[in-house]
Amino acid sequence: MHDPDCLFCKIIAGQIPSSKVHEDEDMLVFKDIHPAAPVHLLMVPKRHIPSMAQVGADDASLLGRMLAKAPQLALDNGCNPYPQGGFRLMVNTGEEGGQEVHHLHIHLLGGPRPWKKG
Ligand code: AMP
Ligand code: ZN
Repeated sequence: MHDPDCLFCKIIAGQIPSSKVHEDEDMLVFKDIHPAAPVHLLMVPKRHIPSMAQVGADDASLLGRMLAKAPQLALDNGCNPYPQGGFRLMVNTGEEGGQEVHHLHIHLLGGPRPWKKG
């Protein structure tokens, strides 16, 4: 599913450049253009799902695979190891949830503090 008006669908299709760090059949992972922490990645499913509000039981395995990839992505991209290091996963959902791009994405933030947000 591709939404021609969606920024992240365009990035997935290669129509807009991104700093890609990982790609597989489920997801694309790239650096956030305005990083809020020393490590700030966006994990984006290739299928256009507008937000976490549309997620249902059929998406459980996809989301599980995405979450299960986070530890390796964190270490490979400069987060320090748990427990002194670690990372934060965040899914902003809807206007009141602070979501700006309406294609589901998981923020992965990490690295030495202070961070701009949190
Ligand atoms: P959210 O507020 O959760 O919807 O997050 C959207 C994120 O996408 C923000 O952190 C933006 O900095 C980031 N962003 C917007 N445009 C781009 C882009 N072209 N490449 C990478 N990240 C982007
Ligand atoms: Zn999209």
